[in-house]
Amino acid sequence: MPTAIRVEGLSKTFDTAAVLHDLSLDVRAGELIGLLGPSGSGKTTLLRIIAGLDFPDRGRILFGGDDATGLPVQKRAVGFVFQHYALFKHMTVADNIAYGLNARARSERPPQAEIRRRVGNLLDLIRLSGFADRYPSQLSGGQRQRIALARALAVEPRVLLLDEPFGALDAQVRKDLRRWLREIHDRTGQTTIFVTHDQDEALELSDRVAVLDKGRLEQVGTPDEVQDTPVSATVLRFLGDSI
Ligand code: ADP
Repeated sequence: MPTAIRVEGLSKTFDTAAVLHDLSLDVRAGELIGLLGPSGSGKTTLLRIIAGLDFPDRGRILFGGDDATGLPVQKRAVGFVFQHYALFKHMTVADNIAYGLNARARSERPPQAEIRRRVGNLLDLIRLSGFADRYPSQLSGGQRQRIALARALAVEPRVLLLDEPFGALDAQVRKDLRRWLREIHDRTGQTTIFVTHDQDEALELSDRVAVLDKGRLEQVGTPDEVQDTPVSATVLRFLGDSI
């Protein structure tokens, strides 16, 4: 698979605290890659830099070979779902999903009929077809996160970025959504990077897992590789509970 996103020698310091150290990672087109690591290991910072919500001190981000390091978020064609990235309460489900398309400049906006068609397809994809006219307050937490995912997919992003998207939900809903995210991924082939501190979630969902610790990339590999041949004591310790 060709490389969709290349992270090259990324370093980031907040105040005096170094959060990312010379971190490099290739994300392949169409893969679902999980960023796994303890709290504070730099996962969210890395995701925000890939999104263009933050910028590195050193290093580059390449999208399909093009340097995107200085591009603002609006120019990156990324979709994201964060744990607390809420839906717009005053908008219907359909309008929430269409938001990114309607926010485009008129010359780049698809016609309304095309937007409606896309929203309908996405509602089918997330299995919430009858929900177009409902408001977020009429939905469960799990349904809201599915809508948030549809909203992120509506703009046909180059990459989908998920930061603990199910973190706030209870265990059973979380488990169902995991399975469902994997299913959606298999149907769409959407390149996806998701952040989690939950080993089981990363190992169950990912094509490959990238293990971070203290701002360094410890290991990247398939779930079997990182479990069977951990390259460091840190990886072994961190994955130890799930073996
Ligand atoms: P993770 O997602 O793995 O929990 P983060 O990327 O959120 O890790 O944070 C890594 C470190 O960077 C933490 O110590 C955090 O406190 C610090 N950090 C993150 N964002 C900022 C910021 N905007 N200002 C100062 N420190 C920050």
